[in-house]
Amino acid sequence: MHKNFKNIDKVVFGRGSFSEMDGILAEKRNDNGRFFLFVVDSYFKGKDLESRLPVKPEDVVKFIDVDPSEPTTELIDSLRDEVLAAKGLPSGVVGIGGGSIMDIAKAVSLMFTNEGSSTLYQGLNLIKKPGIYHLGVPTISGTGAEVSMTAVLTGPVKKLGLKCDWTVFNQVILDPELIASVPTDKWLYTGMDTYIHCIESENGILNNAYSHAFAEQAVKLCREIYLGDKAGQTAENDDKLMVASMMGGLSLTYSEVGVCHALSYGLSKILGEKHCYANCLAFQHLEDYYGEGVRELKQMLVQHNVQLPQGLSKGWTDETITAMAEVAYNLPHMWNHAIGTDWKEKVSLDTIKELYKRM
Ligand code: NAD
Ligand code: ZN
Repeated sequence: MHKNFKNIDKVVFGRGSFSEMDGILAEKRNDNGRFFLFVVDSYFKGKDLESRLPVKPEDVVKFIDVDPSEPTTELIDSLRDEVLAAKGLPSGVVGIGGGSIMDIAKAVSLMFTNEGSSTLYQGLNLIKKPGIYHLGVPTISGTGAEVSMTAVLTGPVKKLGLKCDWTVFNQVILDPELIASVPTDKWLYTGMDTYIHCIESENGILNNAYSHAFAEQAVKLCREIYLGDKAGQTAENDDKLMVASMMGGLSLTYSEVGVCHALSYGLSKILGEKHCYANCLAFQHLEDYYGEGVRELKQMLVQHNVQLPQGLSKGWTDETITAMAEVAYNLPHMWNHAIGTDWKEKVSLDTIKELYKRM
């Protein structure tokens, strides 16, 4: 079957475009209970951006610390219940932050109109009703969460997205000024998520001319941003990174991710490692799957003096490794893309355990 996906309704790109938000929200302010819910990365509490939020007295602003864990179903359910009980149904949700906040904004916008716990809807097309209007403003680039049709949540049983057409943002504001403050290590790990999206999208049976065009351009941008004389966190490169992140996301949407993301899900679910960092931990050991890509990613790390830990698996019990391998094995769409339709003949739980033992 061919992939047939909804895209973001509207995108504004450019330095200073954050200031357009007030006008953009104005035409939605009469909807539902006539207030907006803002979910903002707590990094911005007390920063200049807080004073620039176009909030009205009736709006609700929640600062969320995304560092303790990736977004959980519990967080989404309680945020929804709290806002509904206090004020009713918002006109819309605005998310300002990284992939975690993008996913929180997307998920809660759906859960405002779908009853029960978000755990009921983890999977493809399980959501029953369209959510409310939602607008995303990425402040760190790489995951492509701003463009994707999934809101990844960690639940008691699964780490899996609420995935459907209604998940996609109605509006995205891409203002590269907002990513200038990202620390170098996070700038690198998150950007490497884009790079890995492209390498994995390209290397598998679902790659096609459409996904390839996005991946090719995004990889070119990543090389300009992370390699060579002009590499580094400059204004020009921040512009490019915001675009690369989106294109990487579009590439994998129309193709698929592969071995690295499967392993990364295991690292996140069992050990709580953050998505982008977990990808880097895994990808460095996958030369037999993604040879050139792995070599190039290592060059990028060296150029920016970022060192990944080695020998981690020595500290893991066989139980932990098995648990991670089970998470990874249960992502058949990724293995199918990366290895082929006969992947089960080539990849077993033991094969995957060996991949974890390389780390
Ligand atoms: P994040 O949202 O987890 O944030 C990473 C860190 O960067 C945090 O400490 C945050 O406070 C900080 N930060 C964000 N913006 C900043 C800024 N401008 N200046 C300084 N610090 C800043 O980051 P992420 O890596 O973008 O997102 C990871 C999450 O995205 C995971 O939960 C993962 O599951 C999810 N994800 C979703 C998709 C999708 O398609 N929906 C794809 C990949 C990953
Ligand atoms: Zn990713």
